[in-house]
Amino acid sequence: MSRNTQIKSLLWALVLLGIGGLLVVGLWQTAGTNPVQVGYRRELTGIMSTSCQVVAVVPADQDTRAAQAFAAAEGELRDVEAKMSTYIQGSEMWLLNTATAGELVPLSPTAVEVLNAAAEGHRQTAGAFDVTIRPVIEQWKQAAQTGRLPSPAQLADARAASSWEQIEIMPNGAIKTSETVTVDLGGIAKGYGIDRAVKAMQRRGISAGLVDVGGDLRAFGRRPGGGPWRIGIRSPFDKGQMLGSLGVTDAAVCTSGNYERYSIIEGRRYSHIIDPHTARPVEIAPSVTVVAPTATEADTWATALSVLGTNGLELVEAHDDIEALLIVGDPNNWHPIATSGFEDLLLTPLTPPSAAASAN
Ligand code: AMP
Ligand code: MG
Repeated sequence: MSRNTQIKSLLWALVLLGIGGLLVVGLWQTAGTNPVQVGYRRELTGIMSTSCQVVAVVPADQDTRAAQAFAAAEGELRDVEAKMSTYIQGSEMWLLNTATAGELVPLSPTAVEVLNAAAEGHRQTAGAFDVTIRPVIEQWKQAAQTGRLPSPAQLADARAASSWEQIEIMPNGAIKTSETVTVDLGGIAKGYGIDRAVKAMQRRGISAGLVDVGGDLRAFGRRPGGGPWRIGIRSPFDKGQMLGSLGVTDAAVCTSGNYERYSIIEGRRYSHIIDPHTARPVEIAPSVTVVAPTATEADTWATALSVLGTNGLELVEAHDDIEALLIVGDPNNWHPIATSGFEDLLLTPLTPPSAAASAN
């Protein structure tokens, strides 16, 4: 089957797309105006250890443009992963983490940009977003393997070993001022990669589309038919259930939560997100969804709000273009807490169990 035929075969089958924590519902062709705009979709595999899909809206007879845009988006995502993964030996972040103090570690503009975005995220979120938390993450990963909780002293040492004060970002690289400072870009690299993929598609003249990596996504332009992209908010308690849906144009939507990624230590469930102030896994909100102009911002804030909980919404309110939703409680008694503008983005309202019960 040719590449074009492959793309076309996907075209009509997809009205409903299940995407990690979210769902996109798309109308895939609009008639009446000429030329007819069509949404082509491509699934990418082996990227950032999760499912990934890209949608490009182009005139129906220009499927080769969609294919070129997909290739460009894929190239960007793979490039960001290759540079940012701290687990790939020889990657830029691996080289930074293993470098000795005082030496300039040369970094690509991409790596410098992500580190600067992470540093900015740290400032904006009152320290809740902190990529230098890596030694603490390692302690908790080890605990998951051995089944024994880290001691307060081990956590204090791990926290003291790495902080933003111990690393200096230069225009062409970074210098560690301690041997022990290390970074983990797991809370931002996906969002950054999505932004890079969107920009690559736009550079190729694609005016509307979507890039989704594991449920975090950025949409641009309008879906075929002219409406906003419809993004489902998946229940943190039951992956098959939708709590509501958002309508977005030119915005990113990222979700963080402890319902998919956690470890069990001494019989208790622990989130993969660490509160940098306590060096302990967070337990506040089962899920946080953030809508922002870029996926880098949405990804950063989703992780940060998992740490800050509802107190963090005040910080988000200072940004006119960022909205956030926290789902708090348990499966039988959850409720949403959101920034003031979040409701305006909802296409279908959220219905917590208490509201549903009183309506019956
Ligand atoms: P996300 O799914 O975007 O919330 O990212 C979670 C990942 O970010 C974790 O698996 C860690 O790799 C990393 N991480 C954990 N805690 C923090 C934190 N407080 N700030 C920044 N990154 C973190
Ligand atoms: Mg994040």
